[in-house]
Amino acid sequence: MLSLTANTRLLGLLGYPVEHSLSAVMHNRAFTHLGLDCVYLPFSVQPANLAAAVEAIRALGMLGANVTIPHKEKVMDYLDEVTEDAQAAGAVNTIHHQRGRLVGHNTDGLGFIRSMQEETGLSPQKKTIVLVGAGGAARGVGVALGRSGARLIYIANRTIERAARVAQDIQDNSGVSVEIVELSPVKLKPVLEQAQILVHASAVGMHPHADVPPLVPPELLHQGLLVCDLVYRPRETSLIKAAQQRGCRVLPGWGMLVYQGAAAFELWLGQPAPVEVMRAAVLEHLG
Ligand code: NAP
Repeated sequence: MLSLTANTRLLGLLGYPVEHSLSAVMHNRAFTHLGLDCVYLPFSVQPANLAAAVEAIRALGMLGANVTIPHKEKVMDYLDEVTEDAQAAGAVNTIHHQRGRLVGHNTDGLGFIRSMQEETGLSPQKKTIVLVGAGGAARGVGVALGRSGARLIYIANRTIERAARVAQDIQDNSGVSVEIVELSPVKLKPVLEQAQILVHASAVGMHPHADVPPLVPPELLHQGLLVCDLVYRPRETSLIKAAQQRGCRVLPGWGMLVYQGAAAFELWLGQPAPVEVMRAAVLEHLG
């Protein structure tokens, strides 16, 4: 039973929509597990109300908040400080309220790297990586991979101009070399042969279109490849299933979700996050 009082610390999610988010499930389970007097609520914030919602974090004395689509970029205009990591990623996903100051962080990239290290034992260091997709997630993960010592990143996207922009951003913000490759089996084949990591960061395969064939054909996947999919609904995408069948190591999208949440938890609470508990909560909900 929740017992909420004037001492209970409030955290939340600012997004639009927020109905499908798993953040509340994950954080509230962690608070209960550790006996922390905190509660996390998702708030559906229309774009026109974003400034007022951010100000409410300060006015209500909230401990902090997560930020999701469509507010991750715009929210930076309303914060007192944005960390260098968040500036490099071009987006804020976590706000920490520190004695009246609102500080914007980005834990997505770090969460992805940590999920790879903790869940697969592998690191991006000195690896050749193929990144498919060129949206906000690809940009943030690409910068984090570059900053974690990746050797070379190939980026492939349906819209080539967008790939070019994101490639430049990743290169400028991490120093890694990025090359653009056409999103076609014939062009992907030779680069995947040289690669050790594939990161799928497009929206293809996401519920309710889970049956759409993966952008990377299964026959291009080889046993030396770690296949990561950022899509976490369904829990196992058609790409992840195909990769398992081909004998690849895999990292499904729940990994990044859990570890970006763990990193946010640690910023707010100043103590290690109960990752096992948060992972179990997320996997239970994904079915
Ligand atoms: P976004 O900014 O809207 O970008 C969408 C990307 O998907 C673009 O590269 C787009 O290509 C591509 N795309 C969409 N439909 C396509 C199709 N039919 N064929 C080929 N490419 C297509 O989205 P985002 O924020 O980067 O998110 C991308 C995915 O990552 C989503 O599934 C999201 O749920 C997931 N994600 C997961 C986590 C996590 O914690 N696991 C965190 C963030 C995001 P164009 O440029 O050609 O349009």
